Amino acid sequence: MRIRQTLTFTLLLFVVLSLPGAQEARAWGQTGHRVVGYIAQSFLNKKAKKRLQKLLKTEDLALCSTWMDEIRSDERYDHTHDWHWVTIPDGMRYEDAEKNPNGDVIERIEFIVSALKSDTLSQDQEVEYLKMLVHLVGDLHQPLHVGTGKDRGGNDVKVKWMWRSSNLHRVWDSEMIDDKQLSYTELAHALLLQVNKTQVESWLQGDVRSWAMECVALRPQVYDTGDTEKMGYLYLYRNWPTVELQLLKAGIRLAYLLNEIYG
Ligand SMILES: [Zn+2]
Repeated sequence: MRIRQTLTFTLLLFVVLSLPGAQEARAWGQTGHRVVGYIAQSFLNKKAKKRLQKLLKTEDLALCSTWMDEIRSDERYDHTHDWHWVTIPDGMRYEDAEKNPNGDVIERIEFIVSALKSDTLSQDQEVEYLKMLVHLVGDLHQPLHVGTGKDRGGNDVKVKWMWRSSNLHRVWDSEMIDDKQLSYTELAHALLLQVNKTQVESWLQGDVRSWAMECVALRPQVYDTGDTEKMGYLYLYRNWPTVELQLLKAGIRLAYLLNEIYG
């Protein structure tokens, strides 16, 4: 009986995992999100750091960054599923693109920033919004989370990554990062060594919408996969500097938003 139950469960799990969409769009995987949170944590001003410590208690920005993926299976949060990405077709700006009635990553970040600034939220609501913000600023910097509208953010581009079946979205979420075999703190420390003041100042120009347009501009490079059956070291070599840059920018911009909210 027990064996049969286990077998049924395994089979069910297999079916669920095979459903289209079940593997889509987690963004940056856990390591990428934590790197963004860790970098942001190190750029917080004193006031913001104090306030965040009070709200997040035993967690920091790195640890709470994956919460929005953890709640995906909780039906109370079904309404948040589309908040992780946005569609901006080639040649368009966000303003001209058709809006998702369920919300998108740009609309949500803008909404949350102004809600946090309003200082009218209950503490529980504030903590929830804060965790969402940490995650969504990360997502906004994963180039394939600003999709063309044609291939579900690269999820439909099936590839072989290092001889294993994958898809282009997952290559950017986690395959490249995981191949480096660094912990999130190791990767974050390596990135922090690259920071220079002039670059940081230039990254803080613009706003959420122009940051999303940087992802649009990266498309020719991201989709230049060569033979999709043989993706691996060459693609990694060409795109790793962009992965690093996007993680670093996301962390620094997240700190900037939080310093502005709480500083
Ligand atoms: Zn996400």
